[in-house]
Amino acid sequence: MGGRTIYYKTEEEIDLLRESSLLVGKTLAEVAKALKPGVTTLELDAIAEEVIRDNGATPGFKGFGGFPNTLCTSVNEQVVHGIPNNVPLKDGDIVSIDCGVKKNGFYGDSAYTFEVGEVSAEIKELLRTTRECLKLGIEQAIAGNRIGDIGHAVQQHAENAGFGVVRELVGHGLGKGLHEAPEVPNYGRRGNGVKLREGLVLAIEPMINLGSRQVKQLSDGWTIVTSDGKPSAHYEHDVVVRKGNAEVLSTFDWIEEVLETNTVK
Ligand code: MG
Ligand code: MG
Repeated sequence: MGGRTIYYKTEEEIDLLRESSLLVGKTLAEVAKALKPGVTTLELDAIAEEVIRDNGATPGFKGFGGFPNTLCTSVNEQVVHGIPNNVPLKDGDIVSIDCGVKKNGFYGDSAYTFEVGEVSAEIKELLRTTRECLKLGIEQAIAGNRIGDIGHAVQQHAENAGFGVVRELVGHGLGKGLHEAPEVPNYGRRGNGVKLREGLVLAIEPMINLGSRQVKQLSDGWTIVTSDGKPSAHYEHDVVVRKGNAEVLSTFDWIEEVLETNTVK
């Protein structure tokens, strides 16, 4: 994506991006409350849209490039960009839910892969590893590093665990645009790519497959699936490049409070 302008954000702009990113976390937590075998992804989509609009924001994905819904809901072998539908989720499924909002002119964009009922041990390991990839990628989002340091950290961890790293879809800059420069691949070489400067806001979003890294697009023009039909996981945070430590703008804390409550009862 050489030549595309990179927008470094002021602290005032970062405050607005934080507000949008936190609203995504709040929305995903409301979705989590309803998530159980039998619910449809269209029902989850309706919940998300209501939370977003009740908070003075608009869904960030709906209408973006013609996408029809508020959430991308990607079940099992679906990697990303799944379209909500009327098919009930089943015990043992996983569903990656990606949510964007726009508020005060700035986007938030975050994703979480949820377990539906009880999932297999190998899928649990895929989810845990993908979460770890996200954390390791975020740790590299510091001033003076380069984009390739993020991708390298993600790729190494996933491949060491024997999982496939999706290359066709990438993270991105975030601001007044949903997909700003630079691209943030989940693979790469240390010391390669755009140098990271303070105030750069990135959506880091590893997409990791249980099997091979190959993916294809379904004929709906949106849904990306694994070529081998094995499950895929996706977690996404919005972060600000800072000196020493990245600042994470989005949060999974509210999602995890809901999930813990669900487990206890
Ligand atoms: Mg997203
Ligand atoms: Mg994104």
